[in-house]
Amino acid sequence: MSEHIEIHKILITAGTHGNEMSGIEYLRNLLSNKKIRAQLLGQESDIGIELALVNKLAIQRRARYVEEDLNRQFSQEKLSALSGENLEHQLAIEFNLAYGPKYEPTRDLVIDIHNTTSNMGPTLIILESDEFHQQMARYVKTNMPEAIILIEDHIPYKQHPYLCSIGKKGLMIEIGPQPQGVLRPAAYLQTEKMTKLVVAFCDLWNKQMLGQLDAVDAFRLTEEVYFPLSSEGEKLAMIHPSLQNNDFIVLNKGQPTFLSFEGDTLVWEGEDNIYPHFIGESAYYHLNIAFALARKTVI
Ligand SMILES: [Zn+2]
Repeated sequence: MSEHIEIHKILITAGTHGNEMSGIEYLRNLLSNKKIRAQLLGQESDIGIELALVNKLAIQRRARYVEEDLNRQFSQEKLSALSGENLEHQLAIEFNLAYGPKYEPTRDLVIDIHNTTSNMGPTLIILESDEFHQQMARYVKTNMPEAIILIEDHIPYKQHPYLCSIGKKGLMIEIGPQPQGVLRPAAYLQTEKMTKLVVAFCDLWNKQMLGQLDAVDAFRLTEEVYFPLSSEGEKLAMIHPSLQNNDFIVLNKGQPTFLSFEGDTLVWEGEDNIYPHFIGESAYYHLNIAFALARKTVI
């Protein structure tokens, strides 16, 4: 039995990306509306919750970021700089001082809320698969069967450059599909529901009142897949229409993956039983990332 670490300080963040409206609107409501805030956590809890809208200028501009992706600035290397090379780098340094620091964390759990343009459904992204995260995944999925559990533990937790990595534990809520800069009701409601479940889980975890939870299906990130490119770096194809929106649906050898602009179907030549997700995510388009891959597992 591993040490039972209790969760007493939770930081909930949104607006790490300034155009992801479900988290931003939910945080705004939590900050300004006592009734909505009271729904997040019962009175019988000794958990303290802090709320932060992170990249205010990007939110004001309804842009993902001003100069660089903030959610890639929380690496050891970047945080150890004395001053930032751009607005988001500087913001990361300041945010780490205010709510971290990453290597001597003061917050027990950081919940960073995002949304994706991909058809991923309500996704809980966990970065470790220890007992705490295993139990959390089970609790969330049991109480929200439509939830997807995505595990990104291919590198040690603190090696992630994500904002949530400044906590003792950190995770992301990633809801899709929702276009950038707009609120879709389903995304908002799923954001609210999943956030509440994570907080409720922490309370039950502290009180050791979870009981027996059955193992649930999950996905484990393996790699990213790029668009076919010309020698000049221009895309030669788009996502195949039959793959678009099929996030977390199995892909096997020989199935259509890309449709070239000349009309040729390019089929999957990688491994069988693989699960694409972040299919055609808007924020990755300019990076030429077509989708990410995961293997199915249980947690
Ligand atoms: Zn995001």
